Amino acid sequence: MLFSWLTSRRRRRIRAAAFPPAWSEMLRRGVRQVEWLSADERSRLEAWVAVFLAEKRFEGCRGMAITDEVRLVIAGQAGITTLGLGERYFDRLRSIIVHPDDFRVPNSASLGGDLALEWQEERLGETWTGGSMSLAWPDVVAGGRMRDGPRSVVIHEFAHQLDGLDGEIDGVPPLPRGRTRGWVAEWDACRERFEAALDEGRATAFDDYAAESAAEFFAVASECFFQDPHRLVRHDRRLHELLTEAWCQDPLTRVPRQARVRRR
Ligand SMILES: [Zn+2]
Repeated sequence: MLFSWLTSRRRRRIRAAAFPPAWSEMLRRGVRQVEWLSADERSRLEAWVAVFLAEKRFEGCRGMAITDEVRLVIAGQAGITTLGLGERYFDRLRSIIVHPDDFRVPNSASLGGDLALEWQEERLGETWTGGSMSLAWPDVVAGGRMRDGPRSVVIHEFAHQLDGLDGEIDGVPPLPRGRTRGWVAEWDACRERFEAALDEGRATAFDDYAAESAAEFFAVASECFFQDPHRLVRHDRRLHELLTEAWCQDPLTRVPRQARVRRR
């Protein structure tokens, strides 16, 4: 109780302090979506980013230097996802490990008996249950500037964070009391429509990596929801509506229709 009182007092102080203009500029340059926020949303984003940067540890891997720009481009994209969630700082997440490029993680599968197949898998991002997250910097930059279609590795990993708040990363985020069963039934129908489109070779709103599992479907669909909501609505309006319930906001109201086409 004392801890949470001290924490909220410290957070209030950080939120009330002036946000450095150089940081505002880095957010504006590195996170394309910032230009479409209202003044109120922008100040809530900056307050969230200030607390997040004060509380999380950033570590560079394989020579990656952790600059203010690195911290802000990651925190800015994460902060956009929390605009509807109140003061949600993902307390279990302690450190963010940044790699200079894609990284490999060991994977294995049992072949029965004592035999196991082991291999290395390329990753752009990874959420670890122990309280850390790994991100590949070039993909963080591409997602922030919306250079890579409906993708953002930061949004992807924070979708896993939101999904895991109820104790399990299972593709079902925390929902209002009594809503989970109905939400899951409709969500499963969206997954079935997506998988049928893949089977039939039809175009889909987002990458087929979403078919890996329920958790990946939530994470990949969330990337599209924030980065290209118009595309998501064209493919599956109900899926978009279910995501507005999960994230308590609707990016369709701010992201312009042609956002993805215009480069800078
Ligand atoms: Zn994932």
